[in-house]
Amino acid sequence: KGEVDFRREGKFSEHMKRVEAMSEFAKSKTMAEQRQYLPIFSVRDELLQVIRENQVVVVVGETGSGKTTQLTQYLHEDGYTINGIVGCTQPRRVAAMSVAKRVSEEMGTELGGEVGYAIRFEDVTGPNTVIKYMTDGVLLRETLKDPELDKYRVVVMDEAHERSLNTDVLFGILRKVVAQRRDFKLIVTSATLNAQKFSDFFGGVPIFNIPGRTFPVNIIYSKSPCEDYVEAAVKRAMTIHVASPPGDILMFMTGQEEIEAACFSLKERMEQLIASSSKEITKLLILPIYSQLPADLQARIFQKSEDGARKCIVATNIAETSLTVDGICYVIDTGYGKMKVFNPRMGMDALQVFPISRAASDQRAGRAGRTGPGTCYRLYTESAYLNEMFPSPVPEIQRTNLGNVVLLLKSMKIDNLLDFDFMDPPPQENIHNSMYQLWVLGALNDAGGLTYLGWKMVEFPLDPPLAKMLLMGERFACVDEVLTIVSMLSVPSVFFRPKDRAEESDAAREKFFVPESDHITLLNVYQQWEKHGFRGDWCSDHYLQVKSLRKAREVRSQLLDILKQLKIPLKSCGQDWDAVRKAICSAYFHNSARLKGVGAYVNCITGMPCHLHPSSALYGLGYTPDYVVYHELMLTTKEYMQCATSVEPHWLADLWPMFFSIKDSNTSMLECKRKKKEENSNGGRDRRN
Ligand code: ADP
Ligand code: MG
Repeated sequence: KGEVDFRREGKFSEHMKRVEAMSEFAKSKTMAEQRQYLPIFSVRDELLQVIRENQVVVVVGETGSGKTTQLTQYLHEDGYTINGIVGCTQPRRVAAMSVAKRVSEEMGTELGGEVGYAIRFEDVTGPNTVIKYMTDGVLLRETLKDPELDKYRVVVMDEAHERSLNTDVLFGILRKVVAQRRDFKLIVTSATLNAQKFSDFFGGVPIFNIPGRTFPVNIIYSKSPCEDYVEAAVKRAMTIHVASPPGDILMFMTGQEEIEAACFSLKERMEQLIASSSKEITKLLILPIYSQLPADLQARIFQKSEDGARKCIVATNIAETSLTVDGICYVIDTGYGKMKVFNPRMGMDALQVFPISRAASDQRAGRAGRTGPGTCYRLYTESAYLNEMFPSPVPEIQRTNLGNVVLLLKSMKIDNLLDFDFMDPPPQENIHNSMYQLWVLGALNDAGGLTYLGWKMVEFPLDPPLAKMLLMGERFACVDEVLTIVSMLSVPSVFFRPKDRAEESDAAREKFFVPESDHITLLNVYQQWEKHGFRGDWCSDHYLQVKSLRKAREVRSQLLDILKQLKIPLKSCGQDWDAVRKAICSAYFHNSARLKGVGAYVNCITGMPCHLHPSSALYGLGYTPDYVVYHELMLTTKEYMQCATSVEPHWLADLWPMFFSIKDSNTSMLECKRKKKEENSNGGRDRRN
């Protein structure tokens, strides 16, 4: 019906003209012309003037105004790259890669030449690079080697409103750099208006506003809370596609699984519709985007659709502010997103689904009004928006484990972390919990200083337990094997399991099983691949993801370089799997679990129930081992242990005497001496759960 009204009011043709003009524009305009069309271009000279006159500037502008892609180029054009480079940090890997690619195209250069990017384990920069996009984590690690960031003339801290953990720590560090280096400039960008806080933090620096060019967005709420938001979103998208005027759709889901489910369902419904309809149905391009999606598929969301086809982008909150796709007229907002939160019950960080904040909700809606008036369908009630949502998200630093940050800051000789310049300091108890974990791992001594082991752990861009596992490979004379395992754990799963060939792929996977350990199973996969000359066709024959394996090989070689710098020789234990299992056990005691029933375990320390994953190699033993350690817990329908290895109880007792002792030597019953504290300062922040 909506369509009819629309036409009658004569708005339709007006709208069509605009849509056509937009796509004509994109097709016909050169990149240079497109650049000039961005809102930031109209204030280019003023902005550069403010930057010339101030050491620190906060820049605020709507998403899509050109901050990320243009600022770096303006700085380059204004001569800042004559003596030094321009760095730009991003909280998300996908954004760093995709934006660097775009900017290198705009500048007409090869990626990795004048424009490059660096994310963990992947450095695509070269000697000629003058504009470097990177994750905030990469810049943070660079400050370890180069505390004054000498090679940078300007750093743009992008997406500061996201308040990612690493960005927050960088704030404190960069404030020092600003004080020490007169020639250094810092630009902080934010998509939202609450930039005053950033300005205050640097002593009241100027805030530069990029005038927006946005169109009104009509917000439509659900009348009642919706039970299945994936289903509701798919239905809504189909209704739009059938009944509403042209314009692309952007749909927000919480993660990969939901995105895949939604895309699958959309595809099915489109097929049904085409089969049952006598009319010609407009094509619908269904485009997923999430961080683990391979880069070439990610790039598809930016491609122009064929004539007449409508795009439907199904995204995580990456499309909230980090990536802007032009031409979106309809937003479907489920109201949920995933956040990393320290879960005191599990004693670790877990990605959990939470209702988004009002600020995020407004950001999402705003995506519909960039090229013309738009509509946002909120799959929640107005009352939920007004009364249940937080006004803005809780900064990551206040809700996650700080192990890595503590280790990093300690190595920068910041002894008392409570003295560090945090914009919003983490809860004291968070710091203490993280320090306690590091002390137990042997990275901190009783006085809270870094131990010899701790100093070595800092060298690796890995989570503390993984770094420890690698270093314990030295003690158990199996560095070679552990190095491979750590690399395999640092990449997306190497096993390929297409839904329609589940049985064949499971059978292929089973051939690699080393029954006492999923970790060693990963090692076995890698060693077999190596034996077959690292061949790609061999991978596809065995249902293995060649991209993941190649990535693991690359990670391995980078970690190997660090081992060499530390003068740790690459010793192999041959087939002595006990040595490898001990090395794993020595770093993952906090994830040790005791058998309760078939496939059912409980964490030895927290008592948290956890289950052997159906795909675990351990089922191949013919019995389930009494004790295991696992890499991490995966929360799906149950708490599944991701990657488990059987261990002997006396190893746990020998390696961790402060935690475990053998209670009964006949049955090898383990006794846990210390129970982990259950409560945590973050506990109260969980809202619905
Ligand atoms: P901001 O950082 O202010 O949100 P951006 O600089 O990211 O804005 O985006 C400016 C413009 O560049 C947008 O219109 C966006 O669609 C376009 N753009 C950004 N990345 C790409 C890409 N990889 N491919 C095509 N267009 C892109
Ligand atoms: Mg941006």
